[in-house]
Amino acid sequence: MPELPEVETIRRGLIPRLVGCRINRVVLSNRRLRLPVPRAKLKRWVQGSQVESIERRAKYLLVNMDSGAVLVLHLGMTGRLAFFANGTPRRVHDHLRFLLDGGLELRFNDVRRFGSVQVLSPEDRDSPQVFVGLGVEPLGPDFSTPYLMKKARSRTRPIKNFLMDARVVVGIGNIYANEILFVAGIKPTRAVGTMGRAAWDRVVRASRQVLEKAIACGGTTISDYVNSSGEAGYFQCELNVYGRGGEMCQNCGSEIDRVVLSGRASFFCPSCQK
Ligand SMILES: [Zn+2]
Repeated sequence: MPELPEVETIRRGLIPRLVGCRINRVVLSNRRLRLPVPRAKLKRWVQGSQVESIERRAKYLLVNMDSGAVLVLHLGMTGRLAFFANGTPRRVHDHLRFLLDGGLELRFNDVRRFGSVQVLSPEDRDSPQVFVGLGVEPLGPDFSTPYLMKKARSRTRPIKNFLMDARVVVGIGNIYANEILFVAGIKPTRAVGTMGRAAWDRVVRASRQVLEKAIACGGTTISDYVNSSGEAGYFQCELNVYGRGGEMCQNCGSEIDRVVLSGRASFFCPSCQK
């Protein structure tokens, strides 16, 4: 499943080829993704309109159109975006095709169909229901020690579950939560209410460091994520603890431990993480 760094990598990969392009036609082959695909809104607001900019909120890609609407894409578990020459035969699971100026088309392909395509009309975009209840962006200024301490006050949840809670902070999935806590030197099972200011400072710093490094590497390829140019990301070469249960910690040589938290595999070094 693409996590925040992958989605950010895809956003950056889309910008040079999509911004400034007109979407001449939207061709829909499947209306049944996780949410019904809004055919009428796509025709009304996206078809014939030009892409002005591409932003990201959590794991949503926001394609701002010069019609004033926003095309909102979520890749779900297996969604992919890729460019093809116009007229390339449709592949299985190509659900949507955006035919562009200049002979290219952008395709949304999704084997498991947990992805979604939504359109915020100019009236919807001021109060987008899509983003209600989402926590702060981990790379934004609101992700800070005071914010986290307030959210964590006297709570007993494990820090790893807390970091993966999208109501607290968006876009930190299992791989990166493991890696962030290794860099921060904090055990995944540590109760958030017991953490002091210094520990939260380390969490904030480690989150930025790990996510930015992952973005610089082009995202992580664990299952079948491929960025928009079709290149595999290679952050998995850089993983310190994720998937390394029983191996040696690269920092201290101890054996990396594995526990299950809320059904998710969690890896940590029992010496480096307290
Ligand atoms: Zn260690």
